[in-house]
Amino acid sequence: MKFTDLGLSPNLLSAITDAGYDTPTPIQAGAIPIALTGKDVLGIAQTGTGKTASFTLPMIERLSRGRARARMPRSLILAPTRELAAQVSENFETYAKNHKMNMALLIGGVSFEPQKRILDQGADVLIATPGRLLDHFERGGLLLTGVEILVIDEADRMLDMGFIPDIERILKLLPPRRQTLFFSATMPPEIQRLVDTFLRDPERVEVARPAQTAETIQQYILRTADSQPKTKRAALRAAINRDGVKNGIIFCNRKRDVDIVARSLKRHGFSAAAIHGDLDQAQRMKTLAEFKSGELRLLVASDVAARGLDIPAVSHVFNVDIPRNADDYVHRIGRTGRAGLEGESVTLVTPEDRKALAAVVKLIGREPEELALADVEAAPEAPESAQDDAKSRSRRGGRRRGKTEKPAEAQPDAAESAPSAREGGRSRRRKRDEAEDAGPAPRGFGDHVPEFLLRSAL
Ligand code: AMP
Repeated sequence: MKFTDLGLSPNLLSAITDAGYDTPTPIQAGAIPIALTGKDVLGIAQTGTGKTASFTLPMIERLSRGRARARMPRSLILAPTRELAAQVSENFETYAKNHKMNMALLIGGVSFEPQKRILDQGADVLIATPGRLLDHFERGGLLLTGVEILVIDEADRMLDMGFIPDIERILKLLPPRRQTLFFSATMPPEIQRLVDTFLRDPERVEVARPAQTAETIQQYILRTADSQPKTKRAALRAAINRDGVKNGIIFCNRKRDVDIVARSLKRHGFSAAAIHGDLDQAQRMKTLAEFKSGELRLLVASDVAARGLDIPAVSHVFNVDIPRNADDYVHRIGRTGRAGLEGESVTLVTPEDRKALAAVVKLIGREPEELALADVEAAPEAPESAQDDAKSRSRRGGRRRGKTEKPAEAQPDAAESAPSAREGGRSRRRKRDEAEDAGPAPRGFGDHVPEFLLRSAL
C-alpha cells in the first residue's frame, strides 16, 4: 500500500513525498479512506503510530474545498497539552504547504493577538487545548457553529487530566451535523460513553501498540555494580559512547534526577538538555525544537514530561532507572524503532532492581540482552581507590571538591544561612552529586581536561 492508493490529491501527495514518506502506517491506511468520505472515525492508536497524519491529511483534503468565514473556524482539533497541540500544528504546516489554509493555535504560551487576527479573518483550522478554547469562547469573538470537522486527540489523556467536562461543554457548542474523528490509545468506560453519545455510527480503526510490535527495537540491559547515582551516570556515559548512538531520550524515574543527569552530561561534554513540567512553555518548546532539528543530541525526561511528545527518529532510548511501572517501560522504549525504523534501548539495572526487571520481562515476554561494556566495569569505584580517595579527602580536611563547587557550599552552616534550609540542603546535595561525578580528582584530570590544555594541543 502506498499513499497514492488512498485517494489523496496531487498537491497533498507532493507534500507527503517532501516530508519523506511514501508508505502509510496502518492507522493512516485504515483511517484516511474512511475520513475522506466524511464518516466519523474512532481511531484506537497511540502516539508513535502516525495517527496525527491520519486525521491531518483527510482534513486538508476536505477543507481544500470552500472558504472560512470570519470568527467561524471550519474545523477544530482539541489536544490535551500545549506540546501536543503545537505538534499537530507543525503537521499542518508540513502537509498543507501546497494549500492556502489559515490555521490558528489557542494554547498557553502563544500570544493571543496574532491568533485572534487569524480567527477574525477566518480560520480553516483551529487547534486548541480545551481550557484555552473555553476561555476564548467565553470572551466572545469565536463562534463554533461553523465547525464541519472535529478532532479529539488523545481522549484518554484528556480523561486523566480531568478535561472530560470541558469536552462535553465544547461538544454541545458544535453543530450536530459535523464529522468527528476521535482518537484514544485506550477505551476506558468514560471514553466509550463519550463515543456512544457524540459520534454518529463511527468506523472503528484499531492498531497494535507500537511497543507490542517492536521487533525493530533491540533491547539491552546494562548491569551496574551498585545503585550509586555516580555509578549509574558513568554507565550511562559508556552506553551513549557506543557506536551508532545518533540521538536519544534518557529517562529517569524522578524529576530531580532529570536535571542532575542533564547537567552531568553537559559537564561531560555531551549535547543534552532536560525537559520536565517545571520548565516554562517557551523553554520546553525551544528544547524540543532543538532536539528535532538535531542541534541537541540527548533529551533527558521524566515519563510525564515525555508523554505525548512527537519526537521523530530517535535512535536510542536509555533508562537510567528501570521504571517502577512495567507499562512505562513499554511506553519509553516505544520512542525508538518507530514506523519501521531500527532502534535500540539500554536499561541500567542495579542489584536492587531484580523485582522491577522481572516485572518488565514478564510484560514484554522476553529477556532483554545483556550488554557488557568495558568502561562500565571500571565505573564503580574499586575498594582500594575508594580508600585512597577517602584518605586524600581526610588529608585535605574535608570532602573532595570538584572544580564547579563553590567553597561556600562546603561550609557546615551553609544550609542554615540559606533562605530555605530544605532548598539549601537539596542544592548542596545536588552539587555534591555533580562534584563527585567529576571523577577522581587527585589523579590526573579524569574527563575534565582543562580547556587550556586542549587549546595548546591543537
Ligand atoms: P504520530 O503517531 O502522529 O505522533 O507520529 C509518529 C512519528 O511518525 C512522527 O514523527 C511522524 O513524523 C512519523 N510518521 C508519520 N507518518 C509516517 C509514515 N507514513 N512513515 C514514516 N513515518 C511517519
